Amino acid sequence: MSKRDYYEVLGVAKTASDDELKKAYRKLAMKYHPDRNPGDKSAEEKFKEANEAYEVLTDGNKRAVYDKYGHEGMQRGGGGGADFGGGFADIFGDVFSDIFGGGGGRGGPRRGADLRYRIELSLEQAVFGATETIRIPTVRDCEPCHGHGTVDGKAPPTCSTCRGQGQVRVQQGFFVLQQSCPACRGRGTVVADPCKTCRGAGKTRSEKTLEVKIPAGVDTGDRIRLTGEGEPGEKNAPAGDLYVQVEVKPHEIFERDNNDLHCQVPVGFVVAALGGEMDVPTLNGKAKLTVPEGTQSGKVFRLRGLGVKPVRGGPQGDLLCSVVVETPVHLTRKQKDLLKEFGETVDKGGERHSPAATSWLSKAKQFFDEHIKPG
Ligand SMILES: [Zn+2]
Ligand SMILES: [Zn+2]
Repeated sequence: MSKRDYYEVLGVAKTASDDELKKAYRKLAMKYHPDRNPGDKSAEEKFKEANEAYEVLTDGNKRAVYDKYGHEGMQRGGGGGADFGGGFADIFGDVFSDIFGGGGGRGGPRRGADLRYRIELSLEQAVFGATETIRIPTVRDCEPCHGHGTVDGKAPPTCSTCRGQGQVRVQQGFFVLQQSCPACRGRGTVVADPCKTCRGAGKTRSEKTLEVKIPAGVDTGDRIRLTGEGEPGEKNAPAGDLYVQVEVKPHEIFERDNNDLHCQVPVGFVVAALGGEMDVPTLNGKAKLTVPEGTQSGKVFRLRGLGVKPVRGGPQGDLLCSVVVETPVHLTRKQKDLLKEFGETVDKGGERHSPAATSWLSKAKQFFDEHIKPG
């Protein structure tokens, strides 16, 4: 199956700004989130596809490569990292190397690869901030050989070709180029008898625990960068960075739209008719909502400042409560009789009590008169 164009996946123009990308991605992530589509394979595929497109297009380097070479450019990658389009497990929590993370080019000790970690947060955690403990893979010195990569655990002899520099100078025409030493492959040392545990690499994979401070107000698509927490660099080269990418899980009551929160509030039809006060939930408590007399289904009440405080500053969003008038069910005989009696008085009032129904009825009548000829 050939891959869809990343811009097409997100439904944005080639010139889309980061903000536009983020908006489009959030919409798709909400729609196809596995929590919302349990067991739906095609939603899962769409979710993965959107994630991949978003990751590439919001990374300046990758986007430039993609724009120039398309999907093929993404596969060539270089730097040896894992392909981020891999298994579904990659999407949740797992860490995988950035495909361009190697960087550094030829020659000299390589900077460590950047790592990405996808973290799932509840809406409350995203809105109020949190400290999360995560475990990420890391590379540490191999124990049996003390990081030397040798079978005896002693420092290996210096490479005679490059005198331990790891690089050699090569004359090419007028230019002198620096290249990684071919004899020791840039290490500066030659391991004749490699350690059995690490096969001469001097490093083994392990895990480390990190505390990540999630600032209040983050949303799906935001990234938190932890400088130097990526893979260690070779020799004394700097470590890569760790990018923690936020994924906010759907909430039972609230739906977030930038800094506003939306919720539906069922209102009994008596309260809707007579008016009243009711408690509505907020993310950290409750608020009073005054329902005026004669409130209709679909009416939206805006509670100022009860939304999300944006992570990059600015005014706090609002809580928007959308009224759903509930028709009473399972009525007793007596309740039905009361309603019938009530209904007759409403009918007598006609337009005065039911303006929408009355105007709809007269429109419907006009439509029948004009379009449906008696035959
Ligand atoms: Zn060498
Ligand atoms: Zn070893």
